[in-house]
Amino acid sequence: MTASGARSRTDRRQARPLTPLLIDSFGRVARDLRVSLTEKCSLRCTYCMPEEGLPPIPDAARMTTDEVVRLVGLAHRELGVHEVRFTGGEPLMRQDLERIIAGTRAQCPDLPIAMTSNGVGLEHRIGGLVEAGLDRVNISLDTVNRAEFAELTRRDRLPSVLRGVRAAVAAGLDPVKVNAVPMRATLHGAPDLLAWALAEGVQLRFIEEMPLDADNTWSRVEMVTAQEVLDSLSTRYELIPAGRDDPSAPAELWEVAGHFVDGRPATVGVIATVTRNFCAACDRTRLTAEGTVRSCLFSDDETDVLGVLRSGAPDSEIADVWRGAMWGKQAGHGIGGTAFHRPKRSMGAIGG
Ligand code: SAM
Ligand code: SF4
Repeated sequence: MTASGARSRTDRRQARPLTPLLIDSFGRVARDLRVSLTEKCSLRCTYCMPEEGLPPIPDAARMTTDEVVRLVGLAHRELGVHEVRFTGGEPLMRQDLERIIAGTRAQCPDLPIAMTSNGVGLEHRIGGLVEAGLDRVNISLDTVNRAEFAELTRRDRLPSVLRGVRAAVAAGLDPVKVNAVPMRATLHGAPDLLAWALAEGVQLRFIEEMPLDADNTWSRVEMVTAQEVLDSLSTRYELIPAGRDDPSAPAELWEVAGHFVDGRPATVGVIATVTRNFCAACDRTRLTAEGTVRSCLFSDDETDVLGVLRSGAPDSEIADVWRGAMWGKQAGHGIGGTAFHRPKRSMGAIGG
């Protein structure tokens, strides 16, 4: 139990107010569910995965199609979750992704269903995914320089990602967002990445690198800050502060003067995960591919709801275990503080 410090899980359970929602002891309510579907990936981004990939999860330990659908369904019906995002690892590595999305859509007709993907091979799947009920996609892309992409991801797959982005736009998904993690070696290409995003009509958002790489090389001194990204973009573009989409949205937006997408001013976002902590507004709850609830990216505390499901428990009991797990959510990540400990699992293993 690492999440709370002084109070035990039992104490927190007793103090938890009677509400069906996923409330934590700091009064935050989690409504945004991230589900990691797999540890497998077609890329090996240096800030995320080790070169050899993550240790394989035994097939029997990974959530099945039906288990994912049941857990997402009960989170929506019983726990007040109002958006689900499938992630990983790389969700496209699951051949049953279309069935997972279709099953979720059948159970939850009004639930927005999103996916975060590296875009490799997306062009071949996007039609089926949209037909199954996918509403939104975020595609991760850090550079449009092919050699730098190959260096950063350890795979020469940039053309496939670019085709994937185009296919997502052509499939009518709106907005298509592109997430970039700025690294020292690619920072100089940030204006080129924005130029490409403006030309493709997608929303670009930079996200500061967090200490969640498997190789344990992250350093606060070396990491590229949101301010450095803005400085780099400002060498080519005039940026006008545009606030946030909503108060809990972590991205601070800037309008790109003189540029428009579908008649609206084009924007670029910066998420200062490290330098401007927004944990106080966090509304996330996470399921790992093994079906454990993780209340925070940075807490090693995980609660096995898949085990409860597999023991034959009804939805109401699984929901209660999930509520208990979220009640213990820690206040924030504390990166930079003396008490900060890197979590044991890296981003690709937790689900970004
Ligand atoms: N494979 C998919 C992808 O890359 O979009 C989904 C999983 S990936 C772990 C989800 C997001 O986490 C990606 O946008 C990726 O760039 C981001 N990410 C991975 N490691 C990170 C780190 N150390 N700091 C910040 N973001 C990271
Ligand atoms: Fe794979 Fe996504 Fe991690 Fe890159 S960020 S290694 S694409 S899981």
